[in-house]
Amino acid sequence: MRVYNFFSFFSMLPLEVLEEAQKELLDFAGTGMSVTEISHRDKAFSSIVEEAEALLRELMHIPDNYCVLFVQGGASQQFAAVPLNLMHSGKADYIVTGNFSKKAWQEGKIYGEARCVASSEDRTYTYIPDVDKISFNDDADYVHICSNNTIFGTRYTRFPQTKAPLVCDMSSEILSREVDVTKFGVIYAGAQKNLAPAGVTIVIARKDLIENPLPICPTMLRWKTQAENGSLYNTPPCFSIYMANLVLRHLKKLGGIREINQVNEYKANLLYDFIDNSSFYTNRVEKEYRSIMNVPFVTPSKETDEKFVKEAKAAGLVSLKGHRLVGGMRASIYNAMPVEGVQNLIAFMKKFEQENA
Ligand SMILES: *Cc1c(COP(=O)(O)O)cnc(C)c1O
Repeated sequence: MRVYNFFSFFSMLPLEVLEEAQKELLDFAGTGMSVTEISHRDKAFSSIVEEAEALLRELMHIPDNYCVLFVQGGASQQFAAVPLNLMHSGKADYIVTGNFSKKAWQEGKIYGEARCVASSEDRTYTYIPDVDKISFNDDADYVHICSNNTIFGTRYTRFPQTKAPLVCDMSSEILSREVDVTKFGVIYAGAQKNLAPAGVTIVIARKDLIENPLPICPTMLRWKTQAENGSLYNTPPCFSIYMANLVLRHLKKLGGIREINQVNEYKANLLYDFIDNSSFYTNRVEKEYRSIMNVPFVTPSKETDEKFVKEAKAAGLVSLKGHRLVGGMRASIYNAMPVEGVQNLIAFMKKFEQENA
């Protein structure tokens, strides 16, 4: 029996996509092999990469002056790739709004003067600093942000206007809401939250920004290398890219990002409304900045939190344990979480509250 999986670091995948992959697993596109067995130089595979790129461009309205790359190493690898490709004068600004943006900032400090220009750590990352009140440094090579904070359950509702290129980690929300790509210099995202199994990371970069990586930048981390080789410089994560392509096709069939965003808003509102109307459950995030992907909440005590997670699991609602930095529970409701999953969760929460309040 399939369960509703609320895990944050890997998401559910659409059932239709899993079934399609299952169907093609032994014989992909008439090759008599699975997609993980054919050469990445085979036309059957390179056409997947091309289709995935085309679909991503179409869905996100990515203009021609941006390249779209499929790379390895996860979003964490990009924490290093960003300074190694962009930190020409050795200085950059970072906004720290959670665990991952802090890690990106710390990684930046290995390569130069990475400055934290605003942080929400003072109130345990329960808000996003007012982007209009931040003073950015004139000499910054770029400004780095994380648009959706997976662990703390916040998201930017407006993006800062910056003179330097804006670099954004969108790992936990890519393709969940419409964004204007032209406002960003670089967008990157690990695929495993909204797009595909772990293994592939998407980089969308303005072409003029990838031309001059720092001399010490490893070949594999040069966006230019990947762009010049159509993301096939070395052996790519074939299966993840293949799955990403199936998910992108699925998303297009659903109507695109605007449509999925409406479903996402609907799911998130159901859950937040329920939590706000309950005196048993609490979400500590400032309302304006609540993520529609990651919803952390607590019950009145640690003991009840633990009981909740255990009993939810038995009811087919799995991986609701919160991150160790926050405690309590966290429901990650990525694109592939069906509305019924959230409705079932709420029904369970009601019942649990009656039994334990
Ligand atoms: C999960 C996550 C990461 C880490 O991704 P990896 O692919 O495991 O390196 C980085 N940033 C954000 C916002 C995330 O949600």
